[in-house]
Amino acid sequence: MKPWEANFRSVTPYVPGEQPRPDGGRLIKLNTNENPYPPCPGVRRRLQDLDTDLLRRYPDPSASELTEAIAGYHGVSADRVFVGVGSDDVLGMAFLTFFNSPKPILFPDVTYSFYPVWAELFGIPCERVPLDEAWAIRPGDYMRENGGIVFPNPNAPTGLLMEKESVESIIRSCRESVVIVDEAYIDFAGDGASVCGLCDRYENLLVVRTLSKSYSLAGARIGYAIGSPSLIRALKNVKESYNSYTMNAVSISVGAEAVRDVRYLKETVQAVVRTRERAKERLREMGFTFPDSEANFLFAHHTEVPAAEIYQALRREHIYVRHFDGPRVSDYLRISVGTDEEMEMLYASLETFFSERQKIWTAGGCGRSF
Ligand code: PMP
Repeated sequence: MKPWEANFRSVTPYVPGEQPRPDGGRLIKLNTNENPYPPCPGVRRRLQDLDTDLLRRYPDPSASELTEAIAGYHGVSADRVFVGVGSDDVLGMAFLTFFNSPKPILFPDVTYSFYPVWAELFGIPCERVPLDEAWAIRPGDYMRENGGIVFPNPNAPTGLLMEKESVESIIRSCRESVVIVDEAYIDFAGDGASVCGLCDRYENLLVVRTLSKSYSLAGARIGYAIGSPSLIRALKNVKESYNSYTMNAVSISVGAEAVRDVRYLKETVQAVVRTRERAKERLREMGFTFPDSEANFLFAHHTEVPAAEIYQALRREHIYVRHFDGPRVSDYLRISVGTDEEMEMLYASLETFFSERQKIWTAGGCGRSF
C-alpha cells in the first residue's frame, strides 16, 4: 500500500444497473425502472429550440424555473422545494444534512441499496430494520429512538406501498429527527398515495421525488424534495457549501416543461400501470410469485427455476432484468415494466426457456441449464 493510500476515504460503492450500449440489434431493457415511453412533447420542442448561449453561461444556481414549476404542481411555495441532480443527489444531500446524530438512522433491511452506501460514506450509524414475512414495513418497528428514518414508498425492490395512514403514524411518532420518505415510484401507486401534503403539518418530514421514472427523464438527472422551509434552507446551505451549480441549464429547462404537462404524465403512468397489471397475470401463469407491486416493476420469484438461471437465459436473448445478490433477495428478479411489445417479447422468451428446460429435464439431462 502506498503511504498516501492510508488517507483515502474508502467506501464500497453502490452498483447501478447495467446500461448496455445498443449495438443495432435487439435490446430490451427492463433492469433500471426507466419509463419505456418518451418524455412529453414539450421536452423535445425545448431541445430543438435550445439556444446554445444557454450553455455559455453558468446555470441559475437556484434553478428557479424548475423550482417554481414543481412548487406550482404541488401547490406549495418555492421555499418548500429543493432540486438536485436526480433524487440520488437530493437523498445524498439530505443524508449529509439531516443525519448527523450519534444515534443510528433506521431503514428497512430490504430497500434501496444506496442508503447503506451514503451511511458509510458520511459515517452515519445505521440500523437495518427487517421487513415482515410478506416483505412489508412494520411501522411499529420505527417508533423508537433514532437519528433519522428513511424508506421508499412504494418500497424498492419489493414495489409494496405502505398506506398513507401508516406512513403518517411513523412521522407522528418521530418528533426528534427527520423522516425522509423516498417517493421515487409514487406516481405509479395511484392518486392520494403521496404524503407530500403532510409536509406543512410535520416540520421534520422530507418527501423526495424524481423525474427519472414517471416523467421519462432519467437521462436528464432531475430530482427534488418537498419539506418545510427550515429543512429546505438547511439542505440549500449544505448544497451551496459543496457545489453551487448542481443542476445544468438544459435539465432545468426540460424539467420545467415536463412538470407542467400533467396530462402527459397521467397518460404514460396509466399505460405503465395497465401493462404492469397484465404482467402480473402473465407471470403468475408461468409460475412466478411476487409482492403486489404498485411501482413500475415487479419483484418476481419463480417457484421452480432459480432466478440466476432465468436472468442468464434472458440476457442471452438481450433482455436485461435486475438480479441482486444478498440474503432473501437472491432468488428474485426485479423486472421493470416496459411497453406491451417489450413485455410480449419477455413472455415469449420465458415460455421458450421454460419449455426447453422442461424437455431437457424430462429427457434426463438434469443439471444442465440454458
Ligand atoms: N430512490 C429509489 C427507491 C430508487 O429506486 C432510485 C432509482 N435508482 C432512486 C431513488 C434514484 O433515482 P434518480 O437518482 O434517478 O432520481
